[in-house]
Amino acid sequence: MFERIGLPKFLRIIELEDSLAGKDNTLSFSTDSPTRFDIPLEFARRQGIDIPLRVKTTSHILSCMKNMKKAILELKNNSQNPRRTIEENELDELHTFIKSLNISGIGFTRVPQEFIFEKKAVAYENAIVLAMNMDNEKINTAPSKKSLKNIWMTYDKLGVVANRVARYLREKGFASHASHPLGGIVLYPRLAEKAGLGGFGKSGLLITPINGPTLRLAAVYTNIENLPLNEGNEHGWIKDYCDQCGICVKECPPGAIHKNPIKHETGRVTHIDNEKCFPYFSNNFACTICIKVCPFNKIPYEKIKENFLKKKE
Ligand code: SF4
Ligand code: SF4
Repeated sequence: MFERIGLPKFLRIIELEDSLAGKDNTLSFSTDSPTRFDIPLEFARRQGIDIPLRVKTTSHILSCMKNMKKAILELKNNSQNPRRTIEENELDELHTFIKSLNISGIGFTRVPQEFIFEKKAVAYENAIVLAMNMDNEKINTAPSKKSLKNIWMTYDKLGVVANRVARYLREKGFASHASHPLGGIVLYPRLAEKAGLGGFGKSGLLITPINGPTLRLAAVYTNIENLPLNEGNEHGWIKDYCDQCGICVKECPPGAIHKNPIKHETGRVTHIDNEKCFPYFSNNFACTICIKVCPFNKIPYEKIKENFLKKKE
C-alpha cells in the first residue's frame, strides 16, 4: 500500500535552493524571516523514517520534486544581459498565456526580504504570484484519499505552470526564477496578500474572491522593472469577519488554530500550532478540514462581504 519517496532527493533540492542565499545579485532572507515547515523532513524527524505516501499520489510527488529541481537548475538559462522593461501588448500577452494554463489568479508585487524563508533567496525581487483552484467537490470530502490526491495534483500542475511561465519570460528576453508551490521560497499567502489576491484568514490561509481558501499558490520572480505592482489591499475586512466566525478554530480536530493569532516582536503572525496540526495532518490524508469548513469555500466572497458589511452598518 505504501511506497517510500527518497528523502535524500528532497534534501538535495533543499541544498540547491539554499545555495542561492548570499550570492551576488540575489535577495536573501533577513533576520526577521520565518522558518519553512518542510513536511518530508518532519516525517523523518518525528518518525525516523523516509517519506511514506500512498501509491496513488506517488507520481505527483515525484513530479513535484522534479520540477522543484528544474526551477533552480534552469536559472542558468537566464540571459547575461536580459531585457528589463515590458511593453503593454507584451504584458497583455503574458496575461493571456498565464490564463491559458489554468491559472485562476495573477498578481504582481515586490518581494519583501522578511517574507523569504530562512536560508533561502530569490534571484529577482519582483514577483508574479500565481493561484490555481483546487477542486471544491473533492476538497469537500476531506479528510479523504480523494482530497489528498487533488491537493497533490494541484501542487504538481501548478509547479509545472510556474516553470513554463519562467521559460516563457526567458524566451521573451527577460530573466526569471520559478518558485514551486510545494514549500516555496517565500511565505506565499503573505506575498499573495501583498499582490492583492486576497486577505489573511484566521486559519492562516489566503481567502480570495477567486475561490475562497480552496487554491494553491506559486510565484515567478523576474527582473522586469515595470510590472503593474499592486498597491493597497481591499480585503482587510476579512480579519473582522474571521473574528466573529471562528468556525475553523472550533472544527480543527487537534485544536491547532489559534483563536487569537500570536504576534511576534518582528511583526510576524502565527496562526497555526504546527506541533498540534502535523500529527493529525500526517495521519489523516493531509486533513484540510480548515479549508472545507470555511464559509468562503461554500458561499461566494462578494455575497459574504455584502451581508457582513450590511450587518455592520
Ligand atoms: S489541516 Fe487540519 S489539523 Fe491542521 S490546522 Fe487545518 S484543520 Fe487543523
Ligand atoms: S472558517 Fe471562519 S474564521 Fe476560519 S478562516 Fe474561514 S472565515 Fe475565517
